Amino acid sequence: MTTDVTIIGAGLGGLTLARVLHLHRIPATVYEAEPSPTARSQGGLLDIHDYNGQLAIKAADLTDEFRAIVLDGRQAMRILDSDGTVLFDKSDDGTGGRPEVQRGELRQVLLDSLPPGTVRWGRKATRTRALGEGRHEVVFADGASVVTGLLVGADGAWSRVRPLLTAAEPAYTGRSVVETYLYDAATRHPATAKAVGAGSMIAFAPDREIFAHRERDDTLHAYVGLSAPQDWFAALDLTDPAAAAARIAARFAGWAPELTALITATDTAPALRPLYALPAKTRWDRVPGVTLLGDAAHLAAPNGEGANLAMLDGAELGRALAARPGDPEAALAAYEQAMFERVLKSAEIDGIDPGVSTVHDLVAAFTRHEQP
Ligand SMILES: Cc1cc2nc3c(=O)[nH]c(=O)nc-3n(C[C@H](O)[C@H](O)[C@H](O)COP(=O)(O)OP(=O)(O)OC[C@H]3O[C@@H](n4cnc5c(N)ncnc54)[C@H](O)[C@@H]3O)c2cc1C
Repeated sequence: MTTDVTIIGAGLGGLTLARVLHLHRIPATVYEAEPSPTARSQGGLLDIHDYNGQLAIKAADLTDEFRAIVLDGRQAMRILDSDGTVLFDKSDDGTGGRPEVQRGELRQVLLDSLPPGTVRWGRKATRTRALGEGRHEVVFADGASVVTGLLVGADGAWSRVRPLLTAAEPAYTGRSVVETYLYDAATRHPATAKAVGAGSMIAFAPDREIFAHRERDDTLHAYVGLSAPQDWFAALDLTDPAAAAARIAARFAGWAPELTALITATDTAPALRPLYALPAKTRWDRVPGVTLLGDAAHLAAPNGEGANLAMLDGAELGRALAARPGDPEAALAAYEQAMFERVLKSAEIDGIDPGVSTVHDLVAAFTRHEQP
């Protein structure tokens, strides 16, 4: 006997869960707030790790489809000093364990792998409530509602399902990033294209950094990170992109022009992303009939793991439910226990180490990482 699964959120985590359930013939419906798969640009490159994201791809039986969208050469990595000096430079020799893909293309691979109608677009969950005996009601912005015996919150940072399990809420980390894009970089911005190199580039100072990727079609995509209160960012007039970019670039005064061009030469209006995180070690006691995955469960400041973990959560939850068809509660308990441990370990192994306070610390950390 299987229980139909109601998933809120068609991000990478929710879709991976739906796919793994589909492989195990467990019916699932995904309710997504966005009106269509193309309603919003899906963000930039993701490196999918062999120790988490790729395990999820394998569980979803989508390895060939994944390989087909990998961007060759993009695992190259450089670290630059603020004056443009290259301090660390590693080319992509094809043996790395973190192939890069465009997030939107990966999401499309997952969407294409689901039976038509699995995702209900334009269904934004606004309220959830417990009805007893493990059943829950989800009310959507359009007034429709569903009652379900197995509810999964895969609805990201501001999850509407999370309050059923914990009162924990995301708090501002003190950092925000501003996203910029430079198109046709090799011809229009050759010095910046050279500085970024074939894959990723980090130029780092203790309270600011520029992290850029070379995406498909010779596009440079940068995350410009700054530690500053939200008021500082609120004062940026994003309706005047050039002035906003100039104000952000002023925080990088003295940096090499090929680096600050990643801010001032943007072809798109700078997009502000304040970074929030749930309290570290957020966990909850088992609540019958409901669980969380991905950012809804363990939102952290970006450390290169979030999407990978969300996908692995989805795959592991799907497998746990498939392994215990008559006992979803035991499946949820096993999934949550393993998920809490996985998240703790992940916080220890990746991201910019808190001990890294200068660009030279960062180079040393990467060099250590490269050593066998
Ligand atoms: C600037 C930045 C850079 C990052 N870079 C990386 C990286 O390089 N590598 C990496 O692994 N991770 C990265 N992350 C983290 C990563 O984006 C997240 O951890 C990941 O997207 C979480 O996946 P998810 O499926 O849990 O949630 P999401 O991707 O947030 O998906 C949630 C889905 O739920 C939908 N939704 C939300 N609310 C509702 C609602 N009320 N009702 C219905 N649907 C709803 C949303 O529209 C969305 O489709 C980055 C994050 C940021 C902010």
